[in-house]
Amino acid sequence: MSTNKNENTMDKLVSLCKRRGYIFQSSEIYGGINSCWDYGPMGVELKKNIKEFWWKSMISSREDVEGLDTSILMHPKIWEASGHVDSFTDPLVDCKNCKKRFREDMVEGNKCPNCGGELTDTRQFNLMFKTNMGPVEDEASIVYLRPETAQGIYANFLNVQKSSRQKIPFGIGQIGKAFRNEITPGNFIFRTREFEQMEMQYFVKPDTDREWMDYWKEERMYWYVNLGIRKDKLRLHEHSSDELAHYAKTAFDIQYNFPFGWQELEGIHNRSDFDLKQHIKYSGKDLSYFNEATRDRFVPYIIETSAGCDRTLLTTLIDAYTEEEVRGEKRVVLKLSSHIAPLKIGVFPLVKRDGMPELARKVTDSLRKKTMVFYDESGAIGRRYRRQDEIGTPFCVTIDSESLENSTVTVRDRDTMEQLRVNIDKLNSFIGEKLRD
Ligand code: ATP
Repeated sequence: MSTNKNENTMDKLVSLCKRRGYIFQSSEIYGGINSCWDYGPMGVELKKNIKEFWWKSMISSREDVEGLDTSILMHPKIWEASGHVDSFTDPLVDCKNCKKRFREDMVEGNKCPNCGGELTDTRQFNLMFKTNMGPVEDEASIVYLRPETAQGIYANFLNVQKSSRQKIPFGIGQIGKAFRNEITPGNFIFRTREFEQMEMQYFVKPDTDREWMDYWKEERMYWYVNLGIRKDKLRLHEHSSDELAHYAKTAFDIQYNFPFGWQELEGIHNRSDFDLKQHIKYSGKDLSYFNEATRDRFVPYIIETSAGCDRTLLTTLIDAYTEEEVRGEKRVVLKLSSHIAPLKIGVFPLVKRDGMPELARKVTDSLRKKTMVFYDESGAIGRRYRRQDEIGTPFCVTIDSESLENSTVTVRDRDTMEQLRVNIDKLNSFIGEKLRD
């Protein structure tokens, strides 16, 4: 029963995303390509706002974290050192009957979840995408699409530390694409083969790793709440020893209660000195840190906060999706926090005559200097409100006949649907205040 209801929520969200220009299936005109998605005009704004919020909280508002943008293709030895060539695998089983593939840890018993058929023995499947660099396709030309952004940070640890003159503890963050040839992608943009990560690696003295782990767990949880996600839908989950990745000493996931269950949003890992030591070994370069004050040299421990941008975006949409009954009719509204909503204000002339469109255009131009505004004069006013409700636009400004007489407009609040009359001269500051709330 509840599964149907939950599947329903996802179906409704997928259809809203298409209808309102948030997310489209990639290559749709050719029948689509599995697990790849494109962000439309609204989606790209929402994604940009989430990334900006992350960048501001994690990097530009802090003195102890630097930004970085490293390339997707890196020296193939990076992935030997990191352990990805040997260990970045998932256990794969095939159904002998219907030929479907599953991640072994997602299957109960030895029966195919699709048809009940017999499953093959488990094989380890490497999740890295391989390609070739240069015109000759041979073993020597193999490069990988990075499966995480973290390694670009480790490889540049000393470049960043020396050029920025940071002292430990300090962090390096970056946002960028990562690729994993997932066996079972799905749940819309939750698990895809191409996605964006927002990762920060914090370099600390070895015996201070526990306290920094606690610090970042708290900071990151708080970030999601500030993003506007409901607190009661978030929790921390500690990895048991059999869940730990090969590099991790301890690990926590921040999880969200999705319609398909509690799932990871972000991983917070104590990676110890594993990564830097591996790169020292494989590159032959000394990546240790020298503390001028105490004259001691050590290989830092790393606390990693690794978030998925697309997964966070999906969470904001699911968390914001609301159906209400208003005067006997269903209203669908995305109650996105105003700081991440793609559009902030819709401006409408009540009717397309009597000088209302002209005045509405003027109002639009003056608001647009400060924020994202959408002008709409077509169709019944109720439909225009409903469209902005579905997009999640926090305010709608309507120019009516009274506006022409006394230079006031109505401002409608998306969540309460209350309308207030505001003088046009005061509109910018009135909405500015509300958007800051
Ligand atoms: P899972 O166990 O779900 O496969 P993971 O533990 O491998 O995830 P990490 O390697 O910790 O994930 O990646 C950090 C973050 O990157 C995840 O919390 C998630 O937000 C995001 N992420 C990882 N894989 C994907 C994917 N295939 N699609 C979308 N986002 C992803």
